[in-house]
Amino acid sequence: MAIITGQICPYCNVSTELVDETEIYGEILYGRKYLRCKVNRDHYVGCYRSKEVKSLGRISNADLRALKVKCHVVFDRSWRDAINSNPHARILAYKWLSDTFEIPFEYCHFGMMDEAWCLYILSSFESELPMQFV
Ligand SMILES: [Zn+2]
Repeated sequence: MAIITGQICPYCNVSTELVDETEIYGEILYGRKYLRCKVNRDHYVGCYRSKEVKSLGRISNADLRALKVKCHVVFDRSWRDAINSNPHARILAYKWLSDTFEIPFEYCHFGMMDEAWCLYILSSFESELPMQFV
């Protein structure tokens, strides 16, 4: 749990610290706080834009961040266009993902997934693109 919530860096097995966005990007880009590994400054994850500190998932290195973006680019197409006609399209898409890959719904977020999961899901998308949730 400490890993998928960004409290522990899974690469270095050390705790993380809360930092401002300027510590990550040198400027404000997304208006978030970040949890960052205390050993390697390239291991970090963004937090929700809320008063409570809640990470978007696990601490990631550059490779995992790129994989998460890829997963979202492919997967989000399944619900993004449908959201105007069906406000539940996004939830339905994540329910499909949860059912298809047998991941408990509350843990079915790309932000929580590691490299192996992202690669597995991406390779599955190539043969079985997620359905459109209209
Ligand atoms: Zn680390």
